[in-house]
Amino acid sequence: MPDSFHLDAVPIRLERCGKTFAGGARALEPLDLSIRGGETIVFLGPSGCGKTTTLRILAGLESPDPGGRVLFGEEDVTALPIERRNVGMVFQSYALFPNMTVAENVAYGLKVRKLARADRARRVEEMLELMHLGGFAGRRIDQLSGGQRQRVALARALVVRPRVLLLDEPLTALDAKLRDSLRLEIDRLLRGLGITAVYVTHDQGEAMALGDRIVVMAKGRVAQVGTPREIYYQPADGFVADFIGTMNRLNGTVRDGALSVGRATLPWTGADGAVDLLVRPEDLALAGEADGHLGGRIAAAVFLGDRTRLVVEPADGPPLTVDAAGRSELGRGDRVWLRVDPARLLAVP
Ligand code: ATP
Repeated sequence: MPDSFHLDAVPIRLERCGKTFAGGARALEPLDLSIRGGETIVFLGPSGCGKTTTLRILAGLESPDPGGRVLFGEEDVTALPIERRNVGMVFQSYALFPNMTVAENVAYGLKVRKLARADRARRVEEMLELMHLGGFAGRRIDQLSGGQRQRVALARALVVRPRVLLLDEPLTALDAKLRDSLRLEIDRLLRGLGITAVYVTHDQGEAMALGDRIVVMAKGRVAQVGTPREIYYQPADGFVADFIGTMNRLNGTVRDGALSVGRATLPWTGADGAVDLLVRPEDLALAGEADGHLGGRIAAAVFLGDRTRLVVEPADGPPLTVDAAGRSELGRGDRVWLRVDPARLLAVP
C-alpha cells in the first residue's frame, strides 16, 4: 500500500450518546464508547437494536439527545454536520450517481473540495488502482456488477482521505460468494490504510472476521463490548451467547463444591442449587459409553462435507448440537455418548 494512502488514525469517543425520536420510544440508551485510532469497531445486533442510529450519530446525520457528545480526537464534533466532519460513508445501497462514470463518481468529493483538476485526476487514478478498478474508469455505474459498485463506493468514500470510515451493511445486498471476497478486500483495505473504521452489520460472521472489537447491541443497549474471541468464549449473557455462533445449554446441579451434569461430577465453585450451563458444540465430544457424560439419541444429522453436525437429544434437558469430524456415518436414531470439557463450561448469569 503506498505511503500516501496511510491516513491519520483518529480516536473517537461517544459520551452518553442516546437517541429518542420524536413521538417514539428511546431508540438508543445513553452509550459510552472509546474507539482507538486505527481500530475497526463492528456494531452487531438484530434489526432495530440501534446500530444504524449509532452510526448516523457518528456521521453527523443524526444528533444525540441533549447531553451526548461525539469527539474525534480532542475535537468535539457533536454540532458539526456531516459535510464538516470529514467522514467517509459506505451504504448497503451504494448511493452512487448512476449516470456518471466510475471516475466521475470517485472524483465527486474532491471536486466539492475544489481540488485542482490534475491533483484530482491523480488521486482518482491511485484510488481506482488500489480498489482494482483500473480498467473501469470510463464505465457507467449501471454497467457494473454489485461487487464492482461497492468497490466504487469504497473508493469514493476513501479518496477524500476521511478521518473515519463508516460502513452500514456494505455487503448485505451481495450474493454469498461475492460477500466473502469483498469482505476479505475490505479487511485488507482497513488494515493497509490504518484508518479508524466503524462497521454496522447483523451478520456475526462479518463481525468476527472484520472487527478488532465487536459491540453487541440489543434493544438500544450495549450487551457486550469485546474482541471476537472474548465475545465468543466469554459471552456476557444468554443473549450474546445465543446471538454469536451456536451455543448449547445444559442443566447442572451444584452441591458441596461439585457440579453434576449427566453422569459427570466435576469440581465447581459456586452456590449450591440448579445451574444453567453453556457450552459450544466444539467443546462437546463424541465418546464411548464407558467415558461418556451424557447419553442421547441423534434427532438430526446434517452432512457438511468436512464434518457432520448432529442434534442429540439427551435423556433430560434441551437438544445439543455437536460436530462429528471426518467421515462419520452416524445418523438419525443412533445412540451416542458425549463428553463435556469441564474447563469450557460457562455458567449463565
Ligand atoms: P436495522 O438493521 O433494521 O436498520 P438497526 O439496529 O440499525 O436496525 P436502527 O435503525 O438504529 O436499528 O433503529 C433503532 C430503533 O429506532 C428502531 O426501533 C427504529 O424503528 C427506530 N428509528 C430509527 N430511525 C427512526 C426515525 N427517524 N424516527 C423514528 N424512529 C426511528
